[in-house]
Amino acid sequence: MSFWKQKTLAEMSTEEWEMLCDGCGKCCLNKLIDDETDELYYTNAACLLLDCQTGQCKHYSDRFKHVPQCTEITVDNIAELDWLPDSCAYRRLHLGRELPSWHPLIAGSKVAMRNNGMSVCGKVVCETQVKDIEDHIVLWPLKDMD
Ligand code: SF4
Ligand code: SF4
Repeated sequence: MSFWKQKTLAEMSTEEWEMLCDGCGKCCLNKLIDDETDELYYTNAACLLLDCQTGQCKHYSDRFKHVPQCTEITVDNIAELDWLPDSCAYRRLHLGRELPSWHPLIAGSKVAMRNNGMSVCGKVVCETQVKDIEDHIVLWPLKDMD
């Protein structure tokens, strides 16, 4: 049986934890919160370290040196990170859901993830090119599917 079915998040090794990430890149998008309603909005403005074509962080291993405000997702803070997309593997497992059929660990590659519109690849711009962040609000990062 697969490690994500056999183990809890807390039981996973560092390597297994990292493998859980589908590489969608949605967590690297700037988000806005409405002051009055607390509603969360995703934008298509990506962190300056994100490769907008591949959806990968360009300096993942030393990202905090470049972007100190980057959030490390851990078993200790996953419950608080309610801004993660519903499709996120960590959020799904934390909430007792299964990994989706398009997840690279199940599908064997990122092709299904991209074909199903679950990746930021080619759909985002670097935050350094953004003038008015409110013009960049998008709904597609909220998409979730099994
Ligand atoms: S949203 Fe979750 S699964 Fe997607 S890249 Fe971020 S941490 Fe990985
Ligand atoms: S530093 Fe890397 S992992 Fe962190 S938000 Fe930016 S692109 Fe994503």
